[in-house]
Amino acid sequence: MASSAAAGRAAVYDAVFGADVMEKVRSSKVLVVGAGGIGCELLKDLVLVGFGHLEVVDLDTIDVSNLNRQFLFRPQHVGQSKSAIAAQAVASFNPRAGPIVSHHGNIIRGRMFSADFFRGFDLVINALDNQAARSHVNRMCLATRRTLIEGGSTGFAGQAHTIRGGATLCYDCRPKPVQKSFPVCTIRSTPDKPVHCIAWAKELHALLVGDAPNSVLYEPDDAPDHPPAAASSAAAAGPTAAPAADAGASRGESVYMRAVRRPDDAVCDDTAALAAWARGAFDALFRLEIEKKLSMGDAYRTARCRPTPLPLSRCHGFEAACEATLSAPLPAHRTPTLGECAGSFLSALQTFFSDPARRQAAREGRVAFDKDDDLSMRLVAAAANLRAITFGIEALSEFEIKSIAGNIVPAVATTNAVVAGLEAMEAVRALAGRDPADASYAVVLSTGISGGRTVSGDVVPPPNPACSECGRARVILRLDTKRLTLRQLIRGVLCGALGFEEPNILFAAAEAEEGAATGSHFSFLEDEDDASLLGLPLAALPAGGVTSGKLVTVDDFALDGARVEAVVVHVDCEGGGEEAVAAAVEVVGDFSAPEAARAAKEAKAKQAAQQAASAAAAAAAAAAAATAAGGDSDSDDDIVAEGSDADEGSDGSDDDDVFEILEGAGPPSPPSEDSSASRKRPREDEDDEPKRARLGEA
Ligand SMILES: [Zn+2]
Repeated sequence: MASSAAAGRAAVYDAVFGADVMEKVRSSKVLVVGAGGIGCELLKDLVLVGFGHLEVVDLDTIDVSNLNRQFLFRPQHVGQSKSAIAAQAVASFNPRAGPIVSHHGNIIRGRMFSADFFRGFDLVINALDNQAARSHVNRMCLATRRTLIEGGSTGFAGQAHTIRGGATLCYDCRPKPVQKSFPVCTIRSTPDKPVHCIAWAKELHALLVGDAPNSVLYEPDDAPDHPPAAASSAAAAGPTAAPAADAGASRGESVYMRAVRRPDDAVCDDTAALAAWARGAFDALFRLEIEKKLSMGDAYRTARCRPTPLPLSRCHGFEAACEATLSAPLPAHRTPTLGECAGSFLSALQTFFSDPARRQAAREGRVAFDKDDDLSMRLVAAAANLRAITFGIEALSEFEIKSIAGNIVPAVATTNAVVAGLEAMEAVRALAGRDPADASYAVVLSTGISGGRTVSGDVVPPPNPACSECGRARVILRLDTKRLTLRQLIRGVLCGALGFEEPNILFAAAEAEEGAATGSHFSFLEDEDDASLLGLPLAALPAGGVTSGKLVTVDDFALDGARVEAVVVHVDCEGGGEEAVAAAVEVVGDFSAPEAARAAKEAKAKQAAQQAASAAAAAAAAAAAATAAGGDSDSDDDIVAEGSDADEGSDGSDDDDVFEILEGAGPPSPPSEDSSASRKRPREDEDDEPKRARLGEA
């Protein structure tokens, strides 16, 4: 029955699209990136249409919260790989479809997702939920000249269109809305909306259990008179930590840093001591700090909401709530009481630090806020509400806080289904050879907005010439930024694979990057800069290091300024040895500039040598004639300098220049010496700008 239905469907598609197009559909290799809301729909559509060679990548495992709309998954699949289960599920939909290959991995960081992997497909289709992965797939498809079909949804709105380098705009041709952020002082001192309190709570999460130095609430606590052991025993005693904290207050510092310092093992393993530590942290954050700021007079001068210190004793019922939430969370859809917030905050901290694995991860700064981690979410929700109550701002349910904290727009299954259907249609059109710029689709399910039309079409705009991804030649450097050293990058990659001779590496710190002032740069030329940096992993270099997404410029004045711009993508080599780290390096895109410059340089040197030889013969003849005539053969340094400069900028075929060099500098240098002389790095003020300008025009 299923088989005859499939045969009937295939006959319909043959009639609609044409047998030749359907043959391409059956034989083409298609990569689907993402097996979530859109991916499940898309795989089903592609299999039903008759795509014969599908592969799917997803890094996630199935969560209970996926089951309502990611319809290929069932309760028994929770915890298993999304891509594997999705591939299994859709294979049964069409007995004529071939096997579907699934990959459980991160499309950005996974070692196997190299340029060759992408080149193995005729078509790539995105079914992703985040900008970083979309940008990466876009970049890889541009570099490997694959056609990409991009689609996405936000609530009731969605879109789908084809991207082909040079023919259409790419994913990054248009600026993306940046995640809304708030001034640090609003977060730290003057919140007036729930979202400010939630942002503060996420920073507090980092301070308490995550990467503390990266939190905007972090203040260095390096007073030498309070060694850590003394501090934690004082904190363990709870509010008695106040005198030490007040000493800090007199110096204008925040008073909570000592109280939120992570408890040591002796405290963590002692239930009573850990509970006391948690209360000490509560007291410092919600009472002492507020009291101190109020006493300073002008801290809240401009604040819309003035805070009231919150002693734990005012949080009625916190002890019972703490006890209850140690075993069961608060109801997610109801706004909790003050006592419940306080109890939930204390129990979340105790649960966190009584777990040795979480404790260790926290000490190593490895715990990042994840809205889907129940304990992290509980801590943030409780802290956000306590902060809100302190400032007289409305408290919210954990569900509401989660949707704000995770910037979640609710996913609508119907929008995903429409977007996936359009992507599948675009896939057939792409294989049929239709112009990729023909159609871009906007989906709006709410008819009030679109005037009654669910799907409207338009042409895909052309590439944006100013686009940083498709508007200029860039290479992608895939490597393990945490393990590959600067020396390995220079010797193995830049001088090895790319053919540089004396690469000069330059990158800038990203905005507000930890450990680097905004706008700071890193520039490195071996033999001139600090050699001790060579042994450092790329991520540990100054100016924020070389990390995923960073743009690195490499140029080489030994090769006439040959220049390559590279976008770095971090690839995990966990568990692999040094050889694995070196072997994992991949350069994608056009990096012919150094080789071309080297070839041009060698050709030029050869030509110069030939001309020098013939000019020397001519000069000898002229000198003989001049001697015979009694003429003057004074040299002139100015002319030599001009001649030398002009020669560097020209193709070296100007006989006058050659003659002047010969006249001033004596016998011609052999090519090898000439090239070593030109290796000198020009000073910025004299030669840098003209060279760069010339390269820019090329
Ligand atoms: Zn672009």
